[in-house]
Amino acid sequence: MPKTKRQISQVLAVRELTGLTSVLRFERHDLKFEPGQYIRVGVEGDPEIRDYSIYSSAGADYLEVLVRRVEDGLVSKLLCDLKPGDKVDIGGPYGHFKLTEEVRSKPLLLVSTGTGISPFHCFIDSHKGLNYSLLHGTALTSEAYEAAFYGDSYIHCVSREEGGAFRGRVTEYLQAQEIPAETEAFLCGNCDMIYEAFDMLQEKGLPTAQIHTEVYF
Ligand SMILES: Cc1cc2nc3c(=O)[nH]c(=O)nc-3n(C[C@H](O)[C@H](O)[C@H](O)COP(=O)(O)OP(=O)(O)OC[C@H]3O[C@@H](n4cnc5c(N)ncnc54)[C@H](O)[C@@H]3O)c2cc1C
Repeated sequence: MPKTKRQISQVLAVRELTGLTSVLRFERHDLKFEPGQYIRVGVEGDPEIRDYSIYSSAGADYLEVLVRRVEDGLVSKLLCDLKPGDKVDIGGPYGHFKLTEEVRSKPLLLVSTGTGISPFHCFIDSHKGLNYSLLHGTALTSEAYEAAFYGDSYIHCVSREEGGAFRGRVTEYLQAQEIPAETEAFLCGNCDMIYEAFDMLQEKGLPTAQIHTEVYF
């Protein structure tokens, strides 16, 4: 198991994807992690820290996180305002939301809302040749974060406007799908989606051991 520790890292780049969401790139130093894990990040000198899934590949020489600015929140807006050269305090890695070796060869159903797509980007960028289908639920079509990276495996479910592959919530899309018995499902994002999708997958016959979850809020 990699050790958890804290480190100070410089911000190397900020890639704005929408007005509210950015990919922040930090110095990695020698931080080791497994795809799917998260780090705890705060602005250097600020005691407030929050959890962010690692977006970048396990093989990259930097760390990236995908952060949505929560206007009435404390930390995310400070992170989204960072500029290259600023410093962050990073702890970790943490978490058990990982692709184990025996699961990697199975059909993967990756279900996300909002920035919950982040650990899936890391899975897919770290392990080439995965057999996956990625559902991404967002309110707006403009929130298809770097969707070109996933090609045809990406299914955008857009709830509040026309556009995307499906008009509605990811759970509404999922309801109409047949799920092969050997599927390993990974659910990441807000808890309402996760509870609903979990029950739905169980009703469709997927054993609990094949349903993995990471709740953001
Ligand atoms: C394991 C884990 C991994 C996470 N990974 C990510 C990630 O990769 N990217 C990310 O943006 N957030 C992620 N989060 C959420 C993140 O830790 C913070 O809660 C979020 O950035 C808000 O922090 P804040 O200090 O600005 O708001 P706070 O002052 O903590 O206010 C929190 C409120 O913000 C809302 N909120 C929290 N996260 C989001 C979100 N992503 N989108 C919309 N509303 C939200 C909720 O209503 C919550 O009650 C993760 C959380 C966990 C537990």
